[in-house]
Amino acid sequence: MMGPRQEAQSALFYDFSIDDHVPTDHVLRAIDGVIDLSSVRTHLTEFYSSTGRPSIDPELMMRMLLVGYVMGIRSERRLCEEVHLNLAYRWFCKMDLSDPIPDHSTFSKNRHGRFRDSDVLRHVFETVVAQCIEAGLASGQRYAADASIIAADANRQKSTPKADWNPEVIDPDDAPRAVREYLDTLDDAAFGAASPVVPKFISHSDPASQWTGARGGPAYFAYSTNYLIDTDNAVILDVEPIRSIRQAEVGAVKTMIDRVRKTHDLKPERLIADTAYGSGSMLDWLVEKRGIAPHIPVIDKSGRKDGTFERADFTFDVENDLYICPGGKELKQYRRAYKTPRTGANKDETLRYRARKPDCDACPLKQRCCPKEPQRKVTRSIFESSRDVARQLAQTKQYSVSCKLRKKVEMSFAHLKRIHGFGRLRLRGPCGAHDEFILAATAQNLKKLAKLAPNQNRIGKAA
Ligand code: SF4
Repeated sequence: MMGPRQEAQSALFYDFSIDDHVPTDHVLRAIDGVIDLSSVRTHLTEFYSSTGRPSIDPELMMRMLLVGYVMGIRSERRLCEEVHLNLAYRWFCKMDLSDPIPDHSTFSKNRHGRFRDSDVLRHVFETVVAQCIEAGLASGQRYAADASIIAADANRQKSTPKADWNPEVIDPDDAPRAVREYLDTLDDAAFGAASPVVPKFISHSDPASQWTGARGGPAYFAYSTNYLIDTDNAVILDVEPIRSIRQAEVGAVKTMIDRVRKTHDLKPERLIADTAYGSGSMLDWLVEKRGIAPHIPVIDKSGRKDGTFERADFTFDVENDLYICPGGKELKQYRRAYKTPRTGANKDETLRYRARKPDCDACPLKQRCCPKEPQRKVTRSIFESSRDVARQLAQTKQYSVSCKLRKKVEMSFAHLKRIHGFGRLRLRGPCGAHDEFILAATAQNLKKLAKLAPNQNRIGKAA
């Protein structure tokens, strides 16, 4: 029998609970079981006036932002619409059916104001990391680090070639926010001072972003997000935004290792990373300054393709500070004693060892050694001892394990882009990149915590 036609009729009273309509296996229900934003209000107290109209609850804004980054809705205008319509989002934000949704402009006002001044986004991120550590998800024994390029909200059509770019003529009072941030970060090692090389194009709307073709294919403007993860469960221990430049990546990892130690008192036994981090100075910093084993391939350009002897064919005598060549002769830095001892280091942080010309002239191996030079020279990095440590570690079984563990950080980036839809930044400027990267990393950690944390560590509902 056909039922009566369904007509839209408003009831006078409703007996309705949002909680009943949120699926038990919904990701936001799991996150709500572990998230602890109780310190947000305290953290922000001094940034609110004691008089005037009451503000929107900062914890509500934080919950809404996290809904956005967990569910891949990064437009604040769309986020407000979605929270208005979606029962699960409303439930997570602790809002009843009749509660009004904050206007989208509230987010940008707070982001540029008190959120940035108080660095509350980092506070929330570090709170979540501390929860992960407390729940036993991160032991801090093995770190892995890497960077991933994320396209900036800038395009080639609105850019200037480097020859026509002069930051000194920009009037900061008349410039948009992203341009002012660019001027403020010109001396910052993660942005303006990361490299003396001026990129081919500079964006008008986001000049701090880097014109890069690092991925292959057409070049574009981008920032890079750096992750330092604990390899136990790929918990992101720290995140740092930079211009997409190799030199800045190394600096970001140093910053993150020191910050995690200061914030969470963690010191790893090893750092796992790819060749980009295998420079002599980086390896030396890890081995000598921080006592961390570098499970990193060494950048080595001493190989030769023309069949002549490579540096590896020469034996270094540590005690006497000299190389012994395949012909059994000595290669030294100096052959006479100077009154003032010399360091001998060149600008490229290498020491140069030379054979004696008479030795090479009379040598039957000369054609295999230095056919086009009067005598053979061999360079040695001033960080060679630390490079040797990394080379020895690369022969161990643990290093093979580390090569597999390194994929975890790559998986985190793949997850960020594919599941969270983070292929392009929405906000401009270094601060916009900072806010977006840190919120995305918080969302990733929260999902991990909700999935893996033992039940006894959960807070809220069950209690
Ligand atoms: S050419 Fe000179 S440096 Fe090379 S093997 Fe002969 S003596 Fe040694």
